[in-house]
Amino acid sequence: MPPMGMGRMGGNYLSEEEKKNRPKVTRELLLRIFSYLKPYWKQMLLVLLLILVSSVFGILPSILTGKIIDVGLIGRNLRMLVILILASLLVTFLSNLIGVAESYLNTWIAQHITLDMRNSMFRHLQKMSQRFFTSNNQGDIITRMTSDIDGVRQIVTNTLTSIISNVITLIVAIVAMYQKNWILATAAILIVPLFVIPTRSAGKQRWSLAKESQEANDEINGILNETLSVSGQLLVKLFGKEEREYRRYSAANERMIRLNIKESMAGRWFRVVLSTFTSIGPMLLYLLGGILMMKFDSSVTVGDITVLVALLSRIYGPVNSLLNVQVEWIRSMALFTRLFEYFDMPVEVESPKDPVIPRRSIGSVAFRHVSFSYEPEREILHDVNFYLPAGRSVAIVGPSGSGKSTLVNLIPRLYDATGGEVLYDGTDVRKLELSWLRSKIGVVSQETYLFNGTIRENLLYAREDATEEELIEACKKANIYDFIEAQEHGFDTIVGNRGLKLSGGEKQRISIARVLLKNPTLLIFDEATSALDSISERKIQDAIDPLIKTRSSILIAHRLSTILAADEILVLKDGCIVEKGRHEDLVGSGGVYTELYHTQFGRALEREAGE
Ligand code: ATP
Repeated sequence: MPPMGMGRMGGNYLSEEEKKNRPKVTRELLLRIFSYLKPYWKQMLLVLLLILVSSVFGILPSILTGKIIDVGLIGRNLRMLVILILASLLVTFLSNLIGVAESYLNTWIAQHITLDMRNSMFRHLQKMSQRFFTSNNQGDIITRMTSDIDGVRQIVTNTLTSIISNVITLIVAIVAMYQKNWILATAAILIVPLFVIPTRSAGKQRWSLAKESQEANDEINGILNETLSVSGQLLVKLFGKEEREYRRYSAANERMIRLNIKESMAGRWFRVVLSTFTSIGPMLLYLLGGILMMKFDSSVTVGDITVLVALLSRIYGPVNSLLNVQVEWIRSMALFTRLFEYFDMPVEVESPKDPVIPRRSIGSVAFRHVSFSYEPEREILHDVNFYLPAGRSVAIVGPSGSGKSTLVNLIPRLYDATGGEVLYDGTDVRKLELSWLRSKIGVVSQETYLFNGTIRENLLYAREDATEEELIEACKKANIYDFIEAQEHGFDTIVGNRGLKLSGGEKQRISIARVLLKNPTLLIFDEATSALDSISERKIQDAIDPLIKTRSSILIAHRLSTILAADEILVLKDGCIVEKGRHEDLVGSGGVYTELYHTQFGRALEREAGE
């Protein structure tokens, strides 16, 4: 009899939460699950056949035992005894052999179904808009991709096949029992649930302990995650909380250990109860069989009784598993429902059905009455209008939170405008082929993201086939080549977790080089707000200046030097363009720009003058 499972699926009992949130099982849901199994129906049919054969073969030795006793031993027939024993061994061997084939095929099917699911989920998630990634917890997304889909594999390998094979084993065993003796068979069928059900309540207690210790474990993982991450450690150190975190950690640890000991002892007791109960069943059957044979029906043989006892032990397992079917069923349906919810999330930004693919790109941008909101109640951009001719540059300035980043995000369609239209080279961006549009736009964002790898790998992300000369040229233009050359490993220097081994200025210059390799028609540069030292700033400025002279550029600017390099300035306040023009015209106008000049840019000017 298999032990009560404590597997990843979470034991054999539904938690209160699971009971409350029972999924609605509809025809659609079942059909949809079925659609994932459908491509493998031939293999599944074969599995079914193998299960059937191996169940029959699995039961044969028990039946042969009866013959061994009656014909071989009691009948004193040595030849038959040997033949029967050999036959029994052969059948067991064959049954196990078929079991191997079955589990191979089973694993193969399950792995392929999860492969299909993983791939299509990944595809789907990559199509999700920026909104999805900013509003969902990264941990949740990863869990969906990993453990939830892994749950599907378990359902296919465990739940599905175990139901089928248990039902078949049970039917075969019951038929065999009735063929031997109907009275004893009926008694056996009544005995089994009597002994399976009480052991279940003992298992339940053990399961709740296991759940508690799982929670303690989660808590420990949470503490570790928080305190041992780069930024977490920084916080702990800077606030001197080492002692507090240690106490928190060791308390959680102790709690878990206490629970673990309790659980493992409950396990021992559980086994005592279990083995006592399971051995009462056969004894009872011997007794009943004996009474029947001696008092009522002399045609019942010792072999018959032995067969029934042997078959009884074979139906304990299946009955026990089938009693769990409901739990597994509910859990599986909940899992599929959750996964399908993810699959059903609408793709907000998509390439249109008949996309326009212009022959060439010149890089002009126009906003016509554009409004935008992340959430329905709160509009971030209101009636934004401007035109950036090809080859020109515009600087967007404005107080923090005025919507500058939001505005530029609409051009490569990280989000779509909620009102009005954004035009690229005269065509609404929603009509252009998405990959074409994005290939023409290079963005150097404020938060430069570098993968954990070498500088070279990070640069090649822009264009895999770039030659060494092109890499060097781009890095020279981005003013980072001297730095790379000075490193011991040059381009093969590891940038560290998210590029954390590099300074902010170095990271930004590498990301400028990366964009240069992409060679976009339109450059969007979101200048870092965080103050870089003036040498770093100078280097970035020197890298940017020639770039914006040669292609269309939009600069979110915080420094006067960047602003002065642009052909036009847009002043954004609370999501509206409030002023437009050149520095000379705006600085004396007494408006928002004048104010910004005196507060933000002025300070930078003073600093530069000081140096
Ligand atoms: P900064 O100069 O500080 O970078 P910004 O002018 O670029 O600011 P945005 O980042 O465009 O400003 O933000 C404009 C407004 O939109 C802010 O009030 C911000 O809270 C809000 N906002 C930004 N991103 C989101 C988001 N993903 N979901 C909801 N609101 C957002």
